[in-house]
Amino acid sequence: MEKIGLYIHIPFCHSKCAYCDFSSYAIGNAQNENAINRYIRALSNEMDLYEETLRNVEIETLFIGGGTPTCIDGKYIHEMINHLKKISNISETVEVTIESNPGTITNEKLDHYLSAGINRFSMGLQTTDNALLSSIGRIHDFNTFVTSFRAIREAGIKNINVDIMFGLPGQTLENLHHTLDTLIELSPEHISAYALKLEEGTPMYEAEKKGLIHMPDEDLERTMYHIIIEVLKKSGYNQYEISNFSKKGFESRHNLVYWKNKPYLGLGLAAHSKMEQVRFSNETIMSRYLEKIENGEKPVIDQVVISEREDLFETIILGLRLNEGLDIQKINERYGIDFYSDNEDIINSLRHQGLVQMTDDNLKLTLKGIDLSNQVFLAFMND
Ligand code: SF4
Repeated sequence: MEKIGLYIHIPFCHSKCAYCDFSSYAIGNAQNENAINRYIRALSNEMDLYEETLRNVEIETLFIGGGTPTCIDGKYIHEMINHLKKISNISETVEVTIESNPGTITNEKLDHYLSAGINRFSMGLQTTDNALLSSIGRIHDFNTFVTSFRAIREAGIKNINVDIMFGLPGQTLENLHHTLDTLIELSPEHISAYALKLEEGTPMYEAEKKGLIHMPDEDLERTMYHIIIEVLKKSGYNQYEISNFSKKGFESRHNLVYWKNKPYLGLGLAAHSKMEQVRFSNETIMSRYLEKIENGEKPVIDQVVISEREDLFETIILGLRLNEGLDIQKINERYGIDFYSDNEDIINSLRHQGLVQMTDDNLKLTLKGIDLSNQVFLAFMND
């Protein structure tokens, strides 16, 4: 039975962060139960529309992302997972992650999550600096994060990821060191560190355009990234992907599905899927998403058959994101090619520039290659 990763999107947040361009709606404190109810019902109906697929695959990982899935009542998540269990094959060793934000966790919600089988939390901290948190529109301060983190731990969750950000306007190296040192003391099993990128249409993008905020220059941003790698390494976190660090055995199994270019199904507003060499994505406008499902139709808008060449290219660029690099023998077997001979000129050129290192059976990025990863990916794309 084919193994897949399943992603479920919950597009609600307490309020909108100033840098966010994800598909999410701010619902504030006064939750609109009708809207949430309708959406969760639609998700269950969408599962039913994929029942045949779900019965023929094994779900190895389930990721409930958003949005902030923990900002809605825990009963919705519980009901949704119960419904999924009825119509699918879930691996006995499934990793079930829920994305959460500080201040949105209660003991009642935790009871629902644990009874539903959730065994991993991914928390958005971003920074320990309260002024920076407020400047990027986060709803929580650092103390709220600690309270939520402890509540999750005390509930018995042994696998927690914490997201942090670097390259924030006004962030100093001291801020960053403080964030890392404080976080390491709390000892999450996994840390994701992403550079802030301003996306068009977000309040921070507009503020930067008007000169109201200033992004750090590239050198400072790269220095921050190198500090993160160094500090986390010293504290026992293995960097296994460009932006991801974990204690041994706590790599995100769900994200590895993406990076290893394996099949995944996405349910919910704007969710993306890749199944049987077809890439497809869902409606991004809520009314259309709901309407299609309520009419018994899959809410798919784009569907592209992936050629073998494209698939190979994706496997290369996704695989190079991993610190273990590309397993050349596996690639040769999967695509019936001789990877090194087919890409000899590119690989030699990248090696001379110090961007990749290779052995007989492995190709990986160097630290310089990680900094200039887009250049490496483009080299393979332009082949
Ligand atoms: S919590 Fe996440 S999804 Fe929600 S607005 Fe902030 S960045 Fe966007």
